[in-house]
Formats: sequence, C-alpha cells, structure tokens
Amino acid sequence: MSDPYDVIVIGGGPAGYVAAIRAAQLGLKTACVEQWINKQDKPALGGTCLNVGCIPSKALLEATELYDEARKNFADMGILVGEVGLDVPKMIARKDGIVSELTGGIAALFKANGIEWLQGRGKLGAERAVTVTERDGTETVHQAANVIIATGSVPIELGATPLDGNIVVDSSGALDWEDVPGSVCVIGAGIIGLELGSVWRRMGSEVVLLEAQEDFLPMVDKAIAREAKRTFEKQGLDIQLGSRVMGSEVVNGQVKVSYQDADGEHETMFDKLIVAVGRRAYTDGALSVEAGVELDERGLIHVNDHCETNIPGVYAIGDVVRGPMLAHKGSEEGVMVAERICGEHAEVNYAVMPNVIYTHPEVAWVGKTEEELKSEGVDYQVGTFPFAASGRAKAKGDTGGMVKIIRDRTSDRLVGAHLIGPSASELLGQSVLAMEFDGTIEDIARTIHAHPTLSEAVHEAALGADGRAIHIANRKKR
Ligand code: FAD
Ligand code: NAD
Repeated sequence: MSDPYDVIVIGGGPAGYVAAIRAAQLGLKTACVEQWINKQDKPALGGTCLNVGCIPSKALLEATELYDEARKNFADMGILVGEVGLDVPKMIARKDGIVSELTGGIAALFKANGIEWLQGRGKLGAERAVTVTERDGTETVHQAANVIIATGSVPIELGATPLDGNIVVDSSGALDWEDVPGSVCVIGAGIIGLELGSVWRRMGSEVVLLEAQEDFLPMVDKAIAREAKRTFEKQGLDIQLGSRVMGSEVVNGQVKVSYQDADGEHETMFDKLIVAVGRRAYTDGALSVEAGVELDERGLIHVNDHCETNIPGVYAIGDVVRGPMLAHKGSEEGVMVAERICGEHAEVNYAVMPNVIYTHPEVAWVGKTEEELKSEGVDYQVGTFPFAASGRAKAKGDTGGMVKIIRDRTSDRLVGAHLIGPSASELLGQSVLAMEFDGTIEDIARTIHAHPTLSEAVHEAALGADGRAIHIANRKKR
C-alpha cells in the first residue's frame, strides 16, 4: 500500500482529468487511474472525448467542411483551384496526430501539476481503497481520503446488429475508415448520427439515417429542428423517421439492414453501417460490492446536485451520472467536486448548459425551448433574426439559418437561445454568459456588437423581441 492520497480519480476523461488537475491546483495529493489503450497500443489519457469523441470527430468535420466548401463555393467567390481531391488516409492521419498531441498534452499537465497517473483498471473497494490492475496483471492497492469516479460511458450495442469493426461499426469505428464507402446506413439520427453522417456524406457517400422516433431532434426547439432537417436533407442526408432497425447481416462484404416503418418491413444493402443509438454509463469492473455505491435503474451512479454518492467521501461525475453526456458538463462537475472537497462552495448551474451539434450549419442551444415554456405556462416573448439578413454571413457566403432568443415576459430574463447557422457554437457563448449573469434581453440589445460580425444576428434577435430589429422589416412597431 502506497502513502494515502487526498484524492484518487478513477477515469481520465474530460470529467476525471479536469477534477484531478483542479484538485492538484488546490494542493491535494492526487492520483488518476486510467486504463485507456490507444490505436498505437499505448496508454492514453483524455477518455472518449479526446481519443474517439469530441476531438477526432471535429477534426474530420472541419476537414470535410473545407473540402465541401472548396468544391461547392470557391468558384462563386472567384477562387479557381482546379479539381479538388481527397486523400482520406492523410485526413485520418491528421486526425490521429491531433488526438496524440492533445492526449500527450494532458499527460504533460499531469506531470506539471504533480498528479500521479496510475496506469490500469481501478476498482473501488470498501473504505475508499482503490485496487489498480495493470496490463500485465500486477495489482496494487491505494488508499484515498476521497475518491472521484469518472468512468464515463460507452456506445450502446444492439444485439441484432453485431459490430465487426469494419463493415458494422460504432462511432469509434466510423472515425477510421480509409476509403469512402459508396453507401452508409446510420442507425439513429441523434447527435452522433448527424455529425458522422455529415462527415461521410461530404466525402461522397450516400447516407441514410434510420431513426426510430417520429420526431426529429426532440430536444431541440421545434422551429430550429425543422430548419435543420430541411437543410440536412438538401445536403443529401436521407433522414427516415419512424424507422426502427430490427437487425443486420454482413453478406459478401456488404451489410443487409432490416428495418420497419409505417409501410412495413424492409431490407436494404449498404457498404457500411454505423450504430449510433446512444451511450450507456460505464461502471463495468470499477465498483466492488463492498464499496456499496448505489446505481439507479439505468445503471448511472446515483448522486445529488453536488455529485456526492451515498458513500461519504465518494463522488461521481461526468457521463457516469445523470444529466447530458457532454464533455463540458463533466469537466464543470470535476471542478465543483475538487473545490467542495477543499471546503469551497462550488456549484454547477445545470439550467445553463450549452449544447451544440457540429453539423454545417451548426445547431446550438441553451435554456428552455419555446415548447417547454408553453407547456410550463410561462408568459414568454420570442425574438428571431435570419442570417440571410446579416452582412457578415453574406460576405462569408453562408446565410442559412437563424437566431431565436426567448425572454420571460414577467422577469424580462433571457430564458433560452436557439441557433442554427454559421459558427452557432461560438455565437451561443454570449447568450450562455448573459443567462449565467441573470441577464435580460435588454442587456443584449443595449450591448455594442462589432460590425460586421455574425454576433450582430444575436443582437438583432434581442432587438427583434419587441420590434426594434434594424435590418429586417418589423411588423411590430415600437
Ligand atoms: P469518458 O470521456 O468516457 O472517460 C472515461 C474514462 O474512464 C475513459 O478514459 C476510460 O478508459 C476510463 N475508465 C473507465 N473505467 C475505468 C476503470 N475501472 N479504471 C480506469 N479507467 C477507467 N461531448 C461534447 O461535449 N462535445 C462534443 O463535440 C462531443 N462529441 C462527441 C463525439 C463522439 C463521436 C462521441 C462518442 C462523444 C462525443 N461527446 C461530445 C461526448 C463526450 O465525449 C463525453 O460526454 C465525455 O467524454 C464524457 O467524459 P467523461 O470523463 O465522463 O467520460
Ligand atoms: P442520441 O441519443 O443523441 O441518438 C440516438 C438515436 O438513436 C435516438 O434518436 C434514438 O431514437 C435512435 N435509436 C435507438 N434505437 C434505434 C433503432 N433500433 N432504430 C433506429 N433508431 C434508433 O445518441 P448518440 O447520437 O449515439 O450520442 C450519444 C451521446 O453522445 C449524445 O446524447 C451526446 O450526449 C453525446 N454526444 C455529444 C456530441 C456533441 O455535443 N456535439 C456529439 C456526439 C455525441
């Protein structure tokens, strides 16, 4: 048994590594147990997000967006580049290079902060003892005053569509194909389905998304979801709602997908199949019975608003607990827990959680949708502004989409912001900040926005809530 730690974090993803860094900054003796083995067969920090999630998917989305842009829009801008081609292995290698740099960066931050990386699988026992099993089977036991479980999530597998690592893959496999498939079927038109479907569509694949639900992006404000569906379909994504996949079979190097919709049962052949039907909390092998940590009926570790489990001194954060499975949500929980261990009064404001789908255009939102406010009986008012009326969007040649912001009429507070359009992920920040500061729409309306910027569209939407938008004809006069 080594000297006891103040904190042991199990899991080095964006929840766990951030918790470890914040704990070390606060002077706590900290270790992080991480078992990830990367494509190069090397131990790596960073979890799903850095290795097979946020970062590699965005590297491919950026590259394919530029490719699409060069083919479709350069000529209109007066740029002649000849025939634009693809080098998919190079694109994948660039993505892998970015992943290596960033995961290596976390290892360097651990060193700089004096955090010990215990490489291997961590298992919590009684009284906050953590057993670490290395790749060669060596076991060591470490004691901690506090344990933070941050073991994340893994893709949900469908028994009827078994993965084979090449033709039938989950999101990780779909980041590594080195040839462009002629046709790709995606099960699930959720966030992963739309992002990875967009990547392969831009590279030239025919992409069909089979979605069991009748509603498209049910968590998104309806007006924005409608606009998103229309735009994605124009880009060639074939989104089939109300289509439940029943099974798949690999036949002669292709995959036969069986699904059911209102017209009955169908079977279609595709070159590849991506299973993107959600993720589940991952606690496999991480908790001994003696640890006594309670899970809920969905397999998530049960925690309160401060990420405390039912066992004193044991916390859980990130995808393994309730709430949206988002990197920034887990990171903020990590900071909160580390600070609370040191007696500080940190909180996470779950009501102001930014969400982004990194398609083109991007879809981004925070706070309540119009539908939620209606069903809660809130007296609200909406301001909208289309990017088609933005000078900067015109200059960029990227005018699709709009900004929609919503105020509570009684308190005047901004209660929701919903965007679809160029750089929506970045533009969302100003509304997130306004909501965090308990700001009003009037605060945004009175703030000077640089011209010409896309952020003026948010300014105009705020002005538009009561008929004061300048660059659009208002029906309401004031
Ligand atoms: P994870 O990142 O899953 O990390 C958990 C870590 O714990 C892993 O490294 C695992 O090896 C380790 N671990 C598990 N059990 C043990 C054990 N017993 N011992 C030791 N180590 C263990 N979110 C966003 O916010 N923005 C995005 O753009 C985005 N894009 C995504 C794209 C894709 C394709 C995917 C799949 C996900 C994406 N996500 C995105 C979601 C995001 O990746 C997760 O929400 C985030 O990684 C969760 O962080 P975490 O630290 O809780 O868990
Ligand atoms: P999701 O929950 O967003 O979408 C899964 C979809 O699959 C659902 O719409 C569901 O109805 C559908 N589905 C399930 N079974 C089906 C079947 N048999 N046939 C047809 N459709 C079926 O999940 P996801 O896209 O896998 O993403 C998982 C999580 O990862 C997300 O919820 C999100 O939290 C996170 N993520 C975030 C980002 C981001 O922030 N940009 C990107 C990727 C992933």
